[in-house]
Amino acid sequence: MQKGTYSLVLILEKEQYIVIGKLGNFLFKKGYYVYNGSALGGFGRVRHHLNKKKCKRWHIDYLLEKAKIIKIITSETNKNYEHDISKNLANDKDAEIPVIKFGSSDCNKGCSSHLVYFKKLPDLGNTYEQLCLKFIVFEKADFKNI
Ligand SMILES: [Zn+2]
Repeated sequence: MQKGTYSLVLILEKEQYIVIGKLGNFLFKKGYYVYNGSALGGFGRVRHHLNKKKCKRWHIDYLLEKAKIIKIITSETNKNYEHDISKNLANDKDAEIPVIKFGSSDCNKGCSSHLVYFKKLPDLGNTYEQLCLKFIVFEKADFKNI
């Protein structure tokens, strides 16, 4: 089974408040959000994100009720790279952290969040390349192949 690290690229078409479970209610700007996770048990975790009807278990499940996934990047890895990817993206001059600790309640690697906001569509290929990770980009029509 393929396993590794992934990023979801989301678009939020209008600014709005969204309740993110116990974290609280936050104003999300219109634009793009990148959520980084790891699926070391297999990319079935990624298919969970694509499922419309589901119980809300992770912070990202709340955001996905309002935002749409437009791109998914996967990288086959044995180690969990979601922290390195999140930090690399957060260092981008155009990046903003919309919600501290989003997706990273139990992160002990010092990420401020595993969700990063960009006004314009970011190029994640750069981030994966800087970390020497091979990656595959899935556009919407390819999601069924994940
Ligand atoms: Zn982290």
